[in-house]
Amino acid sequence: MSGFDTVVIVDWSAGKRAPKRPTKDAIWIGIARGSGEEEPLYFRSRIEAEAWITHFLQTENAAGRRVLMGFDFPFGYPRGTARAVTGSNDVFALWTWLESRIRDDDAGENNRFDVAEEMNRCFEGLGPFWGKPSRDMWPDVPYRKAGIAFERIAERRSADVRANAASSCFQLAFPPTVGSQVLMGLPMLARLRRLPGVAVWPFDAWDDAQTVLAEIWPGLIEPAVRQALDAADPPIRDREQVRLLARAVAGLTPDRLAVMMQDFPEEAREEAWILGAGHAEELRALAGPVPLAPPPLRNDCFSLPAGVDWTPVDEALALLRTRLTCTVGSEVVDIGAAQGRVLAQDVIAVRSNPPQANSAVDGYGFAGGVPEGDHVLPLIEGRAAAGVPFDGAVPSGHAIRILTGAALPEGVDTVLLEEDVASDGQRIAFRGPLKMGANARRAGEDVVEGATALRAGRVVTAADLALLAAVGVSRVMVRHRLRVAILSTGDELVEPGQAAGPGQIFDANRPMLLGMIRAFGFQPVDMGRVADDRAALRARLESAARQADVILTSGGASAGDEDHVSALLRETGAMQEWRIAVKPGRPLALGLWSGTPVFGLPGNPVAAMVCTLIFAHPAMALLAGAAWQAPQGFDLPAAFEKRKKPGRREYLRARVRDGRAEVFKSEGSGRISGLSWAEGLVEIGDGERHIRPGDMVRFIPYGSFGL
Ligand code: AMP
Ligand code: MG
Repeated sequence: MSGFDTVVIVDWSAGKRAPKRPTKDAIWIGIARGSGEEEPLYFRSRIEAEAWITHFLQTENAAGRRVLMGFDFPFGYPRGTARAVTGSNDVFALWTWLESRIRDDDAGENNRFDVAEEMNRCFEGLGPFWGKPSRDMWPDVPYRKAGIAFERIAERRSADVRANAASSCFQLAFPPTVGSQVLMGLPMLARLRRLPGVAVWPFDAWDDAQTVLAEIWPGLIEPAVRQALDAADPPIRDREQVRLLARAVAGLTPDRLAVMMQDFPEEAREEAWILGAGHAEELRALAGPVPLAPPPLRNDCFSLPAGVDWTPVDEALALLRTRLTCTVGSEVVDIGAAQGRVLAQDVIAVRSNPPQANSAVDGYGFAGGVPEGDHVLPLIEGRAAAGVPFDGAVPSGHAIRILTGAALPEGVDTVLLEEDVASDGQRIAFRGPLKMGANARRAGEDVVEGATALRAGRVVTAADLALLAAVGVSRVMVRHRLRVAILSTGDELVEPGQAAGPGQIFDANRPMLLGMIRAFGFQPVDMGRVADDRAALRARLESAARQADVILTSGGASAGDEDHVSALLRETGAMQEWRIAVKPGRPLALGLWSGTPVFGLPGNPVAAMVCTLIFAHPAMALLAGAAWQAPQGFDLPAAFEKRKKPGRREYLRARVRDGRAEVFKSEGSGRISGLSWAEGLVEIGDGERHIRPGDMVRFIPYGSFGL
């Protein structure tokens, strides 16, 4: 079966005309196409909604798009109901019976209780329908359920039991009024079914139908809906239900959807079935849970313990790690767009890898291992190839030609390597022993369906894309990209390409930092340069705070006369000067500007880059929703000599040649060429050290810092 281009979910209503302003308990329609989602539509009356649906199906049809349209009310009644009313078990006979009786108008005035009375009179004794707005009307519909036996006719269908739905399609009043929705919904379905190309699942043949109508139930994804409601504004349950269900169903691969559409018991032919009943877990994973909108950072998130003079690097990192939390929302994207993005929720395998046992080699398949010695087996006709399974069983004592990746046919658990076999086309001869299961891959030996394939907080890699695809995941919930504003400060700076006068230098930090942000997978926001002028800087920070989730400034972060970044942040009261025992490095000014975190980096390009790698990158990763990641380094013999005083950590520009760590010829902090020469940093611990050539040192490649 091919997939659907468009998934539409309809939340029906039995009520009167709904108010102008969108509310719950009205008609809501959610639409999802591929990776795109539309804002759910609101309808005030059934007549308007049906007109829209009819027109929509015609338009989609004309555009050649296949539509799966789900409705949230039962398409059938418990076994025996249809026969009692129409004399036939045929569900469509009941639909037409209702269509010819139910009347509705644009105000929502309808005769459903009269029709329910007529249905109840078709049963001996008390009929199954109950519940009405007034005790004095419709004598053949009891006000309460008490007294109805539900013996010959069950109160709930098999599907309701399977899906754990408490509601009954016989209940016409008092929420949930599922019964009223069925009466007001089936006549519409009867009309839609007459449109060209429309099939109703699971009654009609649906494989090649242009439009398939199916019963669905939002209760299957209730936890996701509840979570989405907490974040929705205004919180309208029906709107979130159709939005999330459309997203979930559209997120299923054609294979998984086909499995769900084939999964119903015999009684569904009369009672209808809920698409996805028994697969709630899988739908829920695709629907959400939508992560909550993250809370803002606390004002004191950058405060330092009092009385400490120089903070060791590890303490500074531990503080950032405990204080900072994710500040960005999330969205669902196709895996094709997921590389470099941060997963917002755990990803569950919806299919095992491999999905079925298959051959690891080209050769011959048979059952069981064999002992030492020479063996001959007759070959059966046919073969098994990847994607073209052998349709049948291999009798014991026989072998079959099999190719790499082919599903093991019934009766095969072991594969002989082609090179170890002599064959005349009729038989194969080979030498034992061979263990049972040799050269075969077990179903799920890599990943089992339902297992967590990847954890929330992971930054998706190219290899992860292979894993996601293999386990049947086509869409994932990821964090919005962290927007990082970059701003250079200093009267001496000019733009590369402009004329530089005496005393002026080119702004080197901004292109470097913008590039680093891009390499980290964040979204750079270029805020340009600002002179050492407090009013101008204030205005620029204000604008950056509106456009970005975090601000990186360079220059002006110390405590001097022209250090306006630290001065301005100090005014806000949410600034801290972090004096970290690190070289290269100057004090970092950390603070919040209008609630947006600011990293005031030193102006010196070497210090700016090292501080970004060591402190700003892991901090920004947390803000972006990623898990904390300490950079991975490895120990190598040094190709240099160095004496280091105790009391601070040092990072040297370094690279690896012939298995040894070389460092740049100068530690001068203005030497930008050394940053470019280097391929990583050598990290030397806080204590005193005398390193001689051949001593082990820790090398951390730029890549480990996310570059
Ligand atoms: P500051 O932190 O503002 O005192 O600057 C420290 C040193 O870094 C000074 O020599 C500045 O000229 C230099 N500097 C500041 N910003 C930049 C920049 N964007 N590009 C290159 N050098 C810079
Ligand atoms: Mg400056």
